[in-house]
Amino acid sequence: MKTDLLHSECLVCKRKEEQYDSSALLCREKDCLADADLRALERPNFISKLPVSKNELDLAALPPLDFRQHAQDMFAMTAVPGFQEAGQYSKEQEKILKGLLPFQDNLLGKQFHLRCGNPILLQSKKLGSELNNVDDAFILDFSAYGWSNTLKDPRSWAIINHALGEKLQHLALWTAGNAGYSLSKIAQAVNRFLPFRERLNVYSIYDSYNDSVERKITFEIEKHGGHIHTILSQGNIIPPAEIQEQIYNRHMIESDQIWCVTDGLEGVGNEMYKLIFLQVLSKLKPSHVFVPVGTGNLYIGAFRALKHLIDNKFLPGSTKLIGAVPFGNNVYNDILKNSKTLNPRLREGGSNLNLGQPLMPKLVGEYSPLRQCIKHSLEEPFVEMMQITERSQKHALNALSNEIYREDFKVSFEPSSLAGFSALLDSQNNGEHIGSALVINTGMGNISENEENFLKSGSGLRRIPA
Ligand SMILES: [Zn+2]
Repeated sequence: MKTDLLHSECLVCKRKEEQYDSSALLCREKDCLADADLRALERPNFISKLPVSKNELDLAALPPLDFRQHAQDMFAMTAVPGFQEAGQYSKEQEKILKGLLPFQDNLLGKQFHLRCGNPILLQSKKLGSELNNVDDAFILDFSAYGWSNTLKDPRSWAIINHALGEKLQHLALWTAGNAGYSLSKIAQAVNRFLPFRERLNVYSIYDSYNDSVERKITFEIEKHGGHIHTILSQGNIIPPAEIQEQIYNRHMIESDQIWCVTDGLEGVGNEMYKLIFLQVLSKLKPSHVFVPVGTGNLYIGAFRALKHLIDNKFLPGSTKLIGAVPFGNNVYNDILKNSKTLNPRLREGGSNLNLGQPLMPKLVGEYSPLRQCIKHSLEEPFVEMMQITERSQKHALNALSNEIYREDFKVSFEPSSLAGFSALLDSQNNGEHIGSALVINTGMGNISENEENFLKSGSGLRRIPA
Protein backbone atom coordinates (compact mmCIF):
# COMPACT_ATOMS: atom_id res chain seq x y z
CA MET A 1 0.00 0.00 0.00
CA LYS A 2 1.46 3.36 -1.08
CA THR A 3 -0.24 6.64 -0.37
CA ASP A 4 0.49 10.33 -0.88
CA LEU A 5 -2.15 11.15 1.69
CA LEU A 6 0.21 10.49 4.59
CA HIS A 7 3.84 11.21 5.32
CA SER A 8 5.96 8.59 6.95
CA GLU A 9 8.21 9.20 9.92
CA CYS A 10 10.83 6.92 11.45
CA LEU A 11 10.08 6.72 15.17
CA VAL A 12 13.78 6.18 15.91
CA CYS A 13 15.65 8.83 13.85
CA LYS A 14 12.65 11.11 13.14
CA ARG A 15 13.38 11.31 9.39
CA LYS A 16 10.32 12.14 7.34
CA GLU A 17 9.37 10.98 3.86
CA GLU A 18 6.75 12.43 1.55
CA GLN A 19 4.99 9.16 0.87
CA TYR A 20 3.86 6.36 3.18
CA ASP A 21 4.83 3.01 1.65
CA SER A 22 3.87 -0.15 3.53
CA SER A 23 6.40 -2.25 1.61
CA ALA A 24 9.39 -0.39 3.13
CA LEU A 25 8.64 0.27 6.77
CA LEU A 26 12.01 -0.32 8.43
CA CYS A 27 14.36 2.65 8.24
CA ARG A 28 17.66 1.84 6.53
CA GLU A 29 19.48 5.14 7.05
CA LYS A 30 23.11 4.53 8.00
CA ASP A 31 23.03 6.43 11.29
CA CYS A 32 19.58 5.14 12.35
CA LEU A 33 19.44 2.52 15.10
CA ALA A 34 16.06 1.15 13.96
CA ASP A 35 17.59 -2.06 12.62
CA ALA A 36 20.22 -2.49 15.34
CA ASP A 37 20.43 -6.08 16.63
CA LEU A 38 18.40 -7.38 13.64
CA ARG A 39 19.75 -10.00 11.27
CA ALA A 40 19.24 -9.37 7.55
CA LEU A 41 16.62 -12.12 7.27
CA GLU A 42 14.59 -10.69 10.14
CA ARG A 43 14.31 -7.16 8.71
CA PRO A 44 11.08 -7.62 6.69
CA ASN A 45 9.29 -8.59 9.93
CA PHE A 46 9.78 -5.29 11.72
CA ILE A 47 8.89 -1.63 11.19
CA SER A 48 10.10 1.74 12.43
CA LYS A 49 8.26 4.07 10.04
CA LEU A 50 4.76 5.16 10.99
CA PRO A 51 2.34 7.38 9.10
CA VAL A 52 1.88 11.00 10.15
CA SER A 53 -0.55 13.59 8.91
CA LYS A 54 0.67 16.08 6.31
CA ASN A 55 -0.96 18.83 8.34
CA GLU A 56 0.68 20.18 11.43
CA LEU A 57 -0.68 18.79 14.69
CA ASP A 58 -3.04 21.28 16.31
CA LEU A 59 -4.13 20.21 19.80
CA ALA A 60 -6.90 22.81 19.84
CA ALA A 61 -8.63 20.88 17.05
CA LEU A 62 -9.04 17.74 19.17
CA PRO A 63 -12.62 17.38 20.43
CA PRO A 64 -13.55 18.28 24.03
CA LEU A 65 -14.15 15.34 26.38
CA ASP A 66 -17.62 16.58 27.33
CA PHE A 67 -20.05 14.79 25.02
CA ARG A 68 -22.49 17.70 25.16
CA GLN A 69 -19.98 19.78 23.20
CA HIS A 70 -19.13 17.44 20.35
CA ALA A 71 -20.39 14.40 18.48
CA GLN A 72 -17.10 13.32 16.91
CA ASP A 73 -17.00 9.62 16.17
CA MET A 74 -14.04 7.55 17.51
CA PHE A 75 -12.85 10.15 20.05
CA ALA A 76 -13.31 9.85 23.81
CA MET A 77 -16.30 11.19 25.71
CA THR A 78 -17.02 11.59 29.39
CA ALA A 79 -19.71 12.58 31.84
CA VAL A 80 -17.15 13.08 34.61
CA PRO A 81 -17.74 16.57 36.08
CA GLY A 82 -14.93 19.02 35.55
CA PHE A 83 -14.33 18.51 31.85
CA GLN A 84 -16.60 21.21 30.52
CA GLU A 85 -14.49 23.52 28.41
CA ALA A 86 -15.40 27.06 27.46
CA GLY A 87 -17.09 27.54 24.11
CA GLN A 88 -18.46 25.10 21.59
CA TYR A 89 -16.46 22.84 19.34
CA SER A 90 -16.52 24.83 16.11
CA LYS A 91 -16.87 23.87 12.46
CA GLU A 92 -13.39 25.33 11.95
CA GLN A 93 -11.88 22.98 14.58
CA GLU A 94 -13.77 20.10 13.02
CA LYS A 95 -12.21 20.90 9.65
CA ILE A 96 -8.69 20.97 11.09
CA LEU A 97 -9.34 17.65 12.87
CA LYS A 98 -10.41 16.05 9.59
CA GLY A 99 -7.02 16.96 8.13
CA LEU A 100 -5.27 15.15 10.99
CA LEU A 101 -7.02 11.80 10.53
CA PRO A 102 -5.09 8.95 8.84
CA PHE A 103 -7.61 8.64 6.02
CA GLN A 104 -9.10 11.04 3.50
CA ASP A 105 -12.68 10.96 4.64
CA ASN A 106 -14.90 9.14 7.11
CA LEU A 107 -16.64 7.21 4.32
CA LEU A 108 -18.00 4.66 6.79
CA GLY A 109 -19.97 7.48 8.36
CA LYS A 110 -20.81 9.50 5.26
CA GLN A 111 -21.55 6.85 2.64
CA PHE A 112 -22.54 3.89 4.78
CA HIS A 113 -24.17 5.71 7.72
CA LEU A 114 -22.17 3.76 10.29
CA ARG A 115 -20.57 4.87 13.54
CA CYS A 116 -17.50 3.46 15.23
CA GLY A 117 -18.53 4.50 18.75
CA ASN A 118 -16.53 6.27 21.42
CA PRO A 119 -14.29 5.19 24.29
CA ILE A 120 -15.64 6.48 27.59
CA LEU A 121 -13.56 8.17 30.25
CA LEU A 122 -14.74 7.12 33.71
CA GLN A 123 -13.68 8.17 37.14
CA SER A 124 -13.66 5.51 39.84
CA LYS A 125 -13.88 7.13 43.26
CA LYS A 126 -13.99 3.74 44.94
CA LEU A 127 -10.99 2.32 43.14
CA GLY A 128 -9.21 5.57 43.99
CA SER A 129 -10.19 5.44 47.67
CA GLU A 130 -9.26 1.77 48.06
CA LEU A 131 -5.71 2.52 46.97
CA ASN A 132 -3.83 4.40 49.68
CA ASN A 133 -1.24 5.94 47.40
CA VAL A 134 -3.58 6.98 44.62
CA ASP A 135 -5.46 10.31 44.73
CA ASP A 136 -7.63 9.79 41.63
CA ALA A 137 -8.24 6.79 39.37
CA PHE A 138 -9.62 7.19 35.84
CA ILE A 139 -10.43 4.48 33.32
CA LEU A 140 -10.43 4.96 29.56
CA ASP A 141 -12.88 2.26 28.53
CA PHE A 142 -12.44 0.88 25.01
CA SER A 143 -15.17 -1.72 25.59
CA ALA A 144 -17.62 1.08 24.76
CA TYR A 145 -16.78 0.84 21.05
CA GLY A 146 -19.64 -0.74 19.17
CA TRP A 147 -18.21 -3.47 16.89
CA SER A 148 -15.89 -5.81 18.74
CA ASN A 149 -16.19 -3.89 22.06
CA THR A 150 -12.42 -3.66 22.11
CA LEU A 151 -9.52 -1.38 21.26
CA LYS A 152 -9.43 -2.97 17.80
CA ASP A 153 -12.42 -0.97 16.54
CA PRO A 154 -10.77 2.45 15.98
CA ARG A 155 -7.89 0.59 14.30
CA SER A 156 -10.31 -1.22 11.96
CA TRP A 157 -12.16 2.04 11.37
CA ALA A 158 -8.97 3.75 10.17
CA ILE A 159 -7.98 0.73 8.03
CA ILE A 160 -11.36 0.39 6.30
CA ASN A 161 -11.84 4.12 5.74
CA HIS A 162 -8.38 4.23 4.24
CA ALA A 163 -9.01 1.12 2.13
CA LEU A 164 -12.30 2.53 0.80
CA GLY A 165 -10.65 5.85 -0.05
CA GLU A 166 -7.73 4.19 -1.85
CA LYS A 167 -9.83 1.42 -3.44
CA LEU A 168 -8.02 -1.43 -1.67
CA GLN A 169 -10.25 -4.49 -1.46
CA HIS A 170 -8.05 -7.17 0.08
CA LEU A 171 -7.05 -6.93 3.73
CA ALA A 172 -4.99 -9.73 5.26
CA LEU A 173 -3.77 -10.18 8.81
CA TRP A 174 -2.20 -12.63 11.22
CA THR A 175 -4.46 -12.52 14.26
CA ALA A 176 -5.38 -14.22 17.51
CA GLY A 177 -8.98 -13.12 17.48
CA ASN A 178 -10.21 -9.59 18.14
CA ALA A 179 -8.35 -7.78 15.33
CA GLY A 180 -9.77 -10.12 12.66
CA TYR A 181 -13.19 -10.13 14.31
CA SER A 182 -13.47 -6.34 14.43
CA LEU A 183 -12.30 -5.91 10.85
CA SER A 184 -14.62 -8.64 9.47
CA LYS A 185 -17.62 -7.22 11.26
CA ILE A 186 -17.18 -3.70 9.87
CA ALA A 187 -16.34 -5.04 6.38
CA GLN A 188 -19.55 -7.08 6.44
CA ALA A 189 -21.61 -4.00 7.26
CA VAL A 190 -20.03 -2.19 4.30
CA ASN A 191 -20.36 -5.10 1.87
CA ARG A 192 -24.12 -5.14 2.18
CA PHE A 193 -24.15 -1.88 0.21
CA LEU A 194 -21.58 -2.80 -2.44
CA PRO A 195 -21.84 -4.70 -5.72
CA PHE A 196 -20.04 -8.05 -5.65
CA ARG A 197 -16.90 -6.88 -7.48
CA GLU A 198 -16.31 -3.97 -5.14
CA ARG A 199 -16.66 -5.81 -1.85
CA LEU A 200 -14.00 -5.88 0.86
CA ASN A 201 -12.32 -9.17 1.74
CA VAL A 202 -10.75 -9.86 5.13
CA TYR A 203 -8.36 -12.81 5.31
CA SER A 204 -7.45 -13.92 8.84
CA ILE A 205 -4.40 -16.13 9.14
CA TYR A 206 -4.04 -18.44 12.12
CA ASP A 207 -1.10 -20.47 13.22
CA SER A 208 -2.40 -23.94 14.01
CA TYR A 209 0.88 -24.65 15.83
CA ASN A 210 -0.48 -23.16 19.00
CA ASP A 211 -4.16 -23.84 19.09
CA SER A 212 -4.86 -21.15 21.63
CA VAL A 213 -7.33 -19.80 19.11
CA GLU A 214 -10.31 -22.00 19.58
CA ARG A 215 -12.86 -22.95 16.97
CA LYS A 216 -15.35 -20.74 18.79
CA ILE A 217 -13.26 -17.65 18.03
CA THR A 218 -12.60 -18.39 14.36
CA PHE A 219 -16.30 -19.16 13.93
CA GLU A 220 -17.17 -15.61 15.01
CA ILE A 221 -14.99 -14.29 12.18
CA GLU A 222 -16.51 -16.61 9.57
CA LYS A 223 -19.96 -15.66 10.78
CA HIS A 224 -19.15 -12.07 9.77
CA GLY A 225 -17.92 -12.99 6.32
CA GLY A 226 -14.16 -13.15 7.04
CA HIS A 227 -11.99 -15.79 5.37
CA ILE A 228 -10.08 -18.06 7.76
CA HIS A 229 -6.75 -19.56 6.73
CA THR A 230 -4.98 -21.87 9.09
CA ILE A 231 -1.32 -22.44 8.44
CA LEU A 232 1.29 -24.41 10.32
CA SER A 233 4.27 -22.17 10.92
CA GLN A 234 5.88 -24.25 13.69
CA GLY A 235 5.56 -21.25 15.96
CA ASN A 236 7.60 -19.04 13.62
CA ILE A 237 6.73 -15.49 12.64
CA ILE A 238 4.26 -15.25 9.76
CA PRO A 239 5.68 -12.28 7.80
CA PRO A 240 3.72 -10.15 5.29
CA ALA A 241 5.35 -11.93 2.32
CA GLU A 242 4.13 -15.32 3.55
CA ILE A 243 0.64 -13.99 4.19
CA GLN A 244 0.53 -12.63 0.62
CA GLU A 245 1.76 -15.94 -0.78
CA GLN A 246 -0.96 -17.83 1.11
CA ILE A 247 -3.67 -15.54 -0.27
CA TYR A 248 -2.26 -15.84 -3.78
CA ASN A 249 -2.19 -19.64 -3.60
CA ARG A 250 -5.79 -19.87 -2.50
CA HIS A 251 -7.47 -16.90 -4.17
CA MET A 252 -5.12 -15.96 -7.06
CA ILE A 253 -4.86 -12.41 -5.77
CA GLU A 254 -1.56 -10.69 -6.61
CA SER A 255 0.50 -9.44 -3.68
CA ASP A 256 0.32 -5.80 -4.77
CA GLN A 257 -3.47 -6.01 -4.36
CA ILE A 258 -3.20 -7.12 -0.73
CA TRP A 259 -2.70 -4.78 2.20
CA CYS A 260 -1.18 -6.60 5.19
CA VAL A 261 -2.82 -5.23 8.29
CA THR A 262 -1.47 -7.52 11.00
CA ASP A 263 -1.75 -5.59 14.27
CA GLY A 264 1.12 -3.09 14.43
CA LEU A 265 1.90 -3.30 10.70
CA GLU A 266 -1.07 -1.29 9.51
CA GLY A 267 0.25 2.10 10.69
CA VAL A 268 -3.02 3.99 10.29
CA GLY A 269 -4.46 2.34 13.42
CA ASN A 270 -1.46 3.46 15.42
CA GLU A 271 -1.94 7.01 14.19
CA MET A 272 -5.59 6.83 15.30
CA TYR A 273 -4.55 5.63 18.79
CA LYS A 274 -2.05 8.50 18.96
CA LEU A 275 -4.78 11.06 18.25
CA ILE A 276 -7.15 9.56 20.84
CA PHE A 277 -4.38 9.59 23.47
CA LEU A 278 -3.45 13.18 22.54
CA GLN A 279 -7.08 14.16 23.10
CA VAL A 280 -7.43 12.41 26.47
CA LEU A 281 -3.97 13.06 27.93
CA SER A 282 -3.84 16.75 26.99
CA LYS A 283 -7.14 17.35 28.79
CA LEU A 284 -6.93 14.90 31.72
CA LYS A 285 -3.20 15.47 32.44
CA PRO A 286 -2.74 12.26 34.46
CA SER A 287 0.49 11.61 36.37
CA HIS A 288 0.57 7.88 35.48
CA VAL A 289 -0.82 6.01 32.44
CA PHE A 290 -1.18 2.21 32.61
CA VAL A 291 -1.43 0.46 29.22
CA PRO A 292 -1.54 -3.31 28.46
CA VAL A 293 1.15 -4.36 25.96
CA GLY A 294 0.62 -7.23 23.51
CA THR A 295 1.91 -6.23 20.07
CA GLY A 296 2.27 -2.78 21.62
CA ASN A 297 0.16 -0.99 19.00
CA LEU A 298 -1.96 0.82 21.60
CA TYR A 299 1.10 1.36 23.78
CA ILE A 300 3.13 2.95 20.94
CA GLY A 301 0.14 5.21 20.18
CA ALA A 302 0.18 6.31 23.83
CA PHE A 303 3.97 6.67 23.72
CA ARG A 304 3.91 8.94 20.65
CA ALA A 305 1.21 11.11 22.24
CA LEU A 306 3.00 11.41 25.59
CA LYS A 307 6.33 12.12 23.93
CA HIS A 308 4.76 15.00 21.99
CA LEU A 309 3.03 16.41 25.07
CA ILE A 310 6.13 16.17 27.30
CA ASP A 311 8.51 17.55 24.64
CA ASN A 312 6.20 20.53 24.06
CA LYS A 313 5.70 21.14 27.81
CA PHE A 314 1.97 20.38 27.81
CA LEU A 315 2.72 17.71 30.42
CA PRO A 316 5.49 17.63 33.04
CA GLY A 317 8.48 15.36 32.42
CA SER A 318 7.55 13.47 35.58
CA THR A 319 4.51 11.93 33.82
CA LYS A 320 4.90 8.14 33.61
CA LEU A 321 3.84 5.65 30.95
CA ILE A 322 3.69 2.14 32.35
CA GLY A 323 3.43 -0.76 29.90
CA ALA A 324 1.94 -3.92 31.42
CA VAL A 325 3.17 -7.23 29.97
CA PRO A 326 2.22 -10.75 31.09
CA PHE A 327 4.92 -12.57 33.06
CA GLY A 328 6.92 -14.94 30.84
CA ASN A 329 6.47 -14.96 27.09
CA ASN A 330 6.16 -11.31 26.05
CA VAL A 331 7.57 -8.78 23.61
CA TYR A 332 9.59 -6.98 26.31
CA ASN A 333 11.50 -10.15 27.21
CA ASP A 334 12.14 -10.73 23.52
CA ILE A 335 13.66 -7.24 23.27
CA LEU A 336 15.88 -7.87 26.30
CA LYS A 337 16.97 -11.24 24.92
CA ASN A 338 17.98 -9.76 21.56
CA SER A 339 19.45 -6.44 22.59
CA LYS A 340 23.09 -6.08 23.51
CA THR A 341 22.74 -2.56 24.89
CA LEU A 342 19.38 -2.21 26.61
CA ASN A 343 19.25 -2.45 30.39
CA PRO A 344 16.18 -3.99 31.99
CA ARG A 345 13.85 -1.20 33.12
CA LEU A 346 11.24 -2.97 35.11
CA ARG A 347 9.00 -1.02 37.39
CA GLU A 348 9.20 -2.07 41.01
CA GLY A 349 6.13 -3.10 42.93
CA GLY A 350 5.01 -6.00 40.84
CA SER A 351 6.93 -9.09 41.69
CA ASN A 352 9.67 -10.18 39.36
CA LEU A 353 9.59 -13.58 41.03
CA ASN A 354 7.74 -16.32 39.27
CA LEU A 355 4.30 -16.15 40.84
CA GLY A 356 2.62 -17.88 37.94
CA GLN A 357 1.79 -16.87 34.40
CA PRO A 358 -1.43 -14.92 34.06
CA LEU A 359 -4.11 -15.95 31.57
CA MET A 360 -3.64 -13.22 28.95
CA PRO A 361 -3.77 -14.88 25.53
CA LYS A 362 -4.18 -11.56 23.70
CA LEU A 363 -0.91 -10.25 25.16
CA VAL A 364 1.26 -13.38 25.14
CA GLY A 365 3.80 -13.78 22.36
CA GLU A 366 7.33 -12.61 21.69
CA TYR A 367 6.79 -11.26 18.18
CA SER A 368 5.50 -7.84 17.37
CA PRO A 369 6.11 -5.90 14.13
CA LEU A 370 6.61 -2.92 16.48
CA ARG A 371 9.45 -4.53 18.43
CA GLN A 372 12.06 -1.98 17.33
CA CYS A 373 9.66 0.87 18.15
CA ILE A 374 8.99 -0.55 21.62
CA LYS A 375 12.72 -0.98 22.14
CA HIS A 376 13.29 2.66 21.19
CA SER A 377 10.54 3.80 23.58
CA LEU A 378 12.36 2.15 26.50
CA GLU A 379 15.16 4.69 26.17
CA GLU A 380 12.84 7.48 27.30
CA PRO A 381 12.98 8.21 31.05
CA PHE A 382 9.17 8.48 31.32
CA VAL A 383 8.63 4.84 30.25
CA GLU A 384 8.55 1.81 32.53
CA MET A 385 7.47 -1.80 32.03
CA MET A 386 5.77 -3.99 34.57
CA GLN A 387 5.37 -7.77 34.48
CA ILE A 388 1.96 -9.03 35.54
CA THR A 389 1.80 -12.32 37.41
CA GLU A 390 -1.09 -14.72 37.86
CA ARG A 391 -1.45 -13.51 41.43
CA SER A 392 -1.78 -9.84 40.53
CA GLN A 393 -4.19 -10.64 37.69
CA LYS A 394 -6.49 -12.45 40.17
CA HIS A 395 -6.14 -9.52 42.55
CA ALA A 396 -7.33 -7.17 39.77
CA LEU A 397 -10.15 -9.53 38.81
CA ASN A 398 -11.43 -9.62 42.38
CA ALA A 399 -11.14 -5.86 42.84
CA LEU A 400 -13.09 -5.16 39.64
CA SER A 401 -15.62 -7.91 40.19
CA ASN A 402 -16.49 -6.46 43.57
CA GLU A 403 -16.64 -3.03 42.05
CA ILE A 404 -18.46 -3.83 38.90
CA TYR A 405 -22.07 -3.77 40.07
CA ARG A 406 -21.75 -0.76 42.27
CA GLU A 407 -23.07 2.49 40.95
CA ASP A 408 -19.53 3.85 40.56
CA PHE A 409 -18.78 2.46 37.10
CA LYS A 410 -19.36 -0.57 34.96
CA VAL A 411 -16.87 -1.78 32.41
CA SER A 412 -16.61 -5.11 30.62
CA PHE A 413 -13.19 -6.66 30.34
CA GLU A 414 -11.59 -9.88 29.20
CA PRO A 415 -8.70 -11.47 31.14
CA SER A 416 -6.02 -9.78 29.00
CA SER A 417 -7.60 -6.37 29.65
CA LEU A 418 -6.78 -6.74 33.35
CA ALA A 419 -3.08 -6.05 32.69
CA GLY A 420 -3.40 -2.26 33.15
CA PHE A 421 -5.47 -2.62 36.34
CA SER A 422 -3.00 -5.19 37.71
CA ALA A 423 -0.13 -2.77 37.09
CA LEU A 424 -1.98 -0.03 39.00
CA LEU A 425 -2.72 -2.34 41.96
CA ASP A 426 0.86 -3.64 41.98
CA SER A 427 2.13 -0.06 42.06
CA GLN A 428 0.79 0.06 45.63
CA ASN A 429 3.60 -2.20 46.68
CA ASN A 430 6.35 0.25 45.95
CA GLY A 431 4.81 3.07 47.97
CA GLU A 432 5.10 5.64 45.17
CA HIS A 433 2.52 8.41 45.38
CA ILE A 434 0.25 8.51 42.32
CA GLY A 435 -1.57 11.81 41.87
CA SER A 436 -3.88 10.75 39.11
CA ALA A 437 -3.85 7.35 37.42
CA LEU A 438 -5.30 6.61 34.00
CA VAL A 439 -5.86 2.90 33.33
CA ILE A 440 -6.71 1.64 29.87
CA ASN A 441 -9.39 -1.02 29.68
CA THR A 442 -8.95 -2.67 26.28
CA GLY A 443 -12.43 -4.18 26.39
CA MET A 444 -14.09 -7.55 25.93
CA GLY A 445 -14.26 -9.14 22.52
CA ASN A 446 -14.08 -12.73 21.46
CA ILE A 447 -13.05 -15.01 24.28
CA SER A 448 -12.33 -18.72 24.61
CA GLU A 449 -13.91 -21.05 27.12
CA ASN A 450 -10.79 -20.81 29.29
CA GLU A 451 -11.07 -17.06 29.44
CA GLU A 452 -14.78 -17.28 30.20
CA ASN A 453 -14.14 -19.66 33.09
CA PHE A 454 -11.47 -17.37 34.46
CA LEU A 455 -13.89 -14.43 34.51
CA LYS A 456 -16.56 -16.53 36.21
CA SER A 457 -14.06 -17.51 38.92
CA GLY A 458 -13.96 -13.87 39.97
CA SER A 459 -17.73 -13.57 39.62
CA GLY A 460 -17.10 -10.97 36.90
CA LEU A 461 -19.94 -12.53 34.92
CA ARG A 462 -22.26 -12.84 37.91
CA ARG A 463 -25.87 -12.06 37.27
CA ILE A 464 -27.76 -9.60 39.42
CA PRO A 465 -30.66 -11.43 41.13
CA ALA A 466 -33.99 -10.39 39.66
ZN1 LIG B 1 15.34 5.95 11.11
